[in-house]
Amino acid sequence: MTTALCFHCGATKFGALCPCGTCGGPASGDSDLDIAFSDHYMSVGSLKKFGKIIRQIARQTDDDEVRMWSFLNYVSIYHSSILTVDTPPELVRLVEPILQNIDLRAFEVVNKRPRLDEGPPPQSGRSSSIVVQSVFEATQRRIRGFCRC
Ligand SMILES: [Zn+2]
Repeated sequence: MTTALCFHCGATKFGALCPCGTCGGPASGDSDLDIAFSDHYMSVGSLKKFGKIIRQIARQTDDDEVRMWSFLNYVSIYHSSILTVDTPPELVRLVEPILQNIDLRAFEVVNKRPRLDEGPPPQSGRSSSIVVQSVFEATQRRIRGFCRC
């Protein structure tokens, strides 16, 4: 069974594309993103460290979009081998103060598949074009289609 990160509450959950067993939050709706933050690609210890970042962000905002983009910005800045993002201009002013208020010490991601760090990162092309709508609106449909929990 896959262990993955819940982008809502920061817990580790079972199944990258499944709802979180802790908070009930759905997967992101972007299966590349969901699987990038699963034990297919990184150690469970690294997932838990990303979870701590999500919890710090979630304490500052109730807005799903702002929380998600704050986390994606953090990853883009400190772990750019995983993904990079272009934040929509209207969200930058909301995301920046949140990033300033959390403990953003970078940590070393332990990759399950070391090749993730060599050559072109497999997620960078797709993830740099993540659109907020595609992340959130497609979620329920995808879960029904792909969840094997
Ligand atoms: Zn959760």
